[in-house]
Order: sequence, then structure tokens, then C-alpha cells
Amino acid sequence: MNFASRMSRVIASPTLRVSAEADRLRRTGVDVVDLGAGEPDFPTPEHVKEAAHAALNSNFTKYTPSAGVLELRDAVAQRYRIDYGVEVKPEEVIITAGAKQALYNTAMVLYGQGDEVITHGPFWPSIVDQIKLADATPVVVQTHMEDGFAIKAASLIDAMTPRTKAIVINSPCNPTGALMAENEMAALADAAAARGIWIVLDFTYEKLIYDPVPHNLIRILFERMRDKTVVCNAASKAYAMTGWRCGWAVGPKDMIAQCNVVQGHSTSNINSITQKAAIAALTGPQDGVTVMLDEYRKRRDIVHAGLTADPRIVCVKPSGAFYLFPYIADLLSPNGLRTSAEFAEALLKDVSVAVTPGEGFDAPGFFRLSYATSIERLREGGDRLRSFVKRLESSGKLTAAR
Ligand code: PMP
Repeated sequence: MNFASRMSRVIASPTLRVSAEADRLRRTGVDVVDLGAGEPDFPTPEHVKEAAHAALNSNFTKYTPSAGVLELRDAVAQRYRIDYGVEVKPEEVIITAGAKQALYNTAMVLYGQGDEVITHGPFWPSIVDQIKLADATPVVVQTHMEDGFAIKAASLIDAMTPRTKAIVINSPCNPTGALMAENEMAALADAAAARGIWIVLDFTYEKLIYDPVPHNLIRILFERMRDKTVVCNAASKAYAMTGWRCGWAVGPKDMIAQCNVVQGHSTSNINSITQKAAIAALTGPQDGVTVMLDEYRKRRDIVHAGLTADPRIVCVKPSGAFYLFPYIADLLSPNGLRTSAEFAEALLKDVSVAVTPGEGFDAPGFFRLSYATSIERLREGGDRLRSFVKRLESSGKLTAAR
């Protein structure tokens, strides 16, 4: 069919594909352990739901300003003031349908033909595909399991060329769970500022950091290059609000105004009721975040211990987000399951466990497992994985030299 050329450069989101397949199987009656989904299993907090009910009951159901209601843009600004000690004005905020649209608007506004945009891999696929949709060229700097997938300034700086328009940093990172250290961000920001390069910070998992490490990347960026910093974030993960679709971009006023032009011609404002719910999430009690974080930490430790009990599975213990990213090359073989994609496919087919193969994150040999599900389901998934590996073993398909 005669589609626009940009469509030949991108593929459907691999993470959404796994969820759709798991969902399809579930609807046919299969008991799927879904470790593919990137979303909290916790319900949205009660006070947030109550705000939505109140909005609906008071007929707050009309168009709002495309960039979101002032009260919500203020609430985002206030959150950053409290959490990071930085001053943000409402005109420096646009409310978007999740962090995804914040990043997409940013891509449309900043990147174009002939531009290079640097990011780090393994990456969340939409970051790279959005760069391609904007007709720019992604330049991926790999991080490595051997040093915990650390996001290092030096290798990102090495990748800069006169064509570099922006650098997208995702910290905590999906899928690796790695954080960018403050000193690394400072070094990167100094280099970017000197060359007039934008830094786009995907802060979607900002609240999901397990140890008290300093991570005030916003202040570091604002101090050095506020006029070229964009922070993309959402209520999705921190407040268990994935389905509500509320995110935001914070950036220089003129850049945010351009985002609003893109949004005004595409989706306009996000759902009005969601906006009221998000105000409650951002301005209400924040202790729910800690409760979730404590629970995720417990799950991370259980699943990490379970996986690494098998010496053939290598897995970094992540510092943030809610994914494990094990390396399973020793479970692959030329006359058995040859790739992590085949491994994930067989795992779903044979024992109904859904994980996302590393290929989708530009990391063959790995798979991503989300531990944002109950401990009981995680244990069940672990049992099934072990029986799957045992069967592979007894079929002689693991012993062949690789
Ligand atoms: N960035 C990253 C790194 C993500 O993992 C996700 C969601 N999986 C998003 C952005 C998008 O989040 P939202 O659902 O708020 O659009």
C-alpha cells in the first residue's frame, strides 16, 4: 500500500505487542502470567478517584485549554518546586496524554531532517521511533551490563557531531533500571550547553528509585542550560494512573508554546476529568508513592534472587523503575531457541509467561520482566520459568556449543 515513507522507518511498539498477545491469550481462557506490561498493578489512590467523580458530577466535561487547565500546570510547577527546589512557571508546562505525548510533541518541535538525536541503549523503543517519525536520525550509545548499564557522559559526548540537535536521557531507565549519576549529568550538560544542544530528560520513573541516591537531574540541567532543557514526565507510574493518560513537558516558554501548536492541531487538551484527578494526585498526600516503592523493592529482591539462582542467568539488580533485564545467552543455542525473541515466544506458548524480548530494546540476548505484579503471580511466573528451562535442558537443547 502507498503509505508515507516515514512509516517504513518505524515498527509497532514491541512492548504494547506483548501486552496485546498476552491479552488475546487471556481472553481465550489461558492463565497467563503477564510480566510484559509496564504498568503498576496498584489501583489509582482513592482521593484521586474521588476528584474524578467530583469533576464528572459537576459537569467538568467540556474542552479545556489545549495545554491543560492552569490549576494543573500550577500543580506540576509546585511539585517541582517541592521535590527539586526549582522554579517553574505554568507557561513553562504543557499537559499531555502521558509522557509519551510529551516526548512526541518534543520530537516534532525540536527534531527534523538532517538532525541527529543521541540517546542511550538498551532503550525504550518509542524514544528512537519518535526520532525517526520526526525525520531525524537516532544515534544510540550503548550502555553495558558489566557496569550496571551506567549512563556515562563521556560516551554521549563522544557521539556529538555538528549535526547533533538533542540528547534524550531516560533516568531511571526502562528497561535497565539504571540511573544517571548527578556528576555525569553535570558533565553532559556542560558539554551540551557549550554546543547549543538540547537535553530532553524522560523522568517517567523519577519516583521509583530504591536507594537514597541523589538524583536531582532537573536542578543540574536548569542551572546549566535551562533554555535548552525539556523534562517529560507523567502521573502514570508514580500515581498508578497509566490508563488516565496524563503527562507533561516542562521546558522554556517558547518551546512549550510550540508543543502547544503541535498538540492544538492533533489531540487538543487531554481528558478534562483526568486533569482534575491529576491535580489531586500532584497536590494531595504523597505517601502512597512510598508504599508502592517499598512493595516493588521487595518484589525486585525476590525475583532477582530467583533468577540469579540459575548461574546461566546474569542479571543486574536495578536501582530504579520496575523491570529486571536478565541476560540469557547461556539458555540459547543454535539447535534450540536461537534468540531471546524465540525464547520469549516459546515461554509464552509453552508455559504462558509473557516477557518482552530484548530485541525490542536493541538488546538481543536479554529479556525484560516487569515486577509490577503481585508476589504470588511473580512466584508462579518463576516456577513456570524454571520448569520451562528444565524442559529445555532435558531435551538436550541447551548443551550444544554456542
Ligand atoms: N517513557 C518511558 C521510559 C516509559 O517506559 C513509558 C511507559 N512505558 C513512557 C515514557 C510513557 O509513559 P506514559 O504511559 O505516561 O505515556
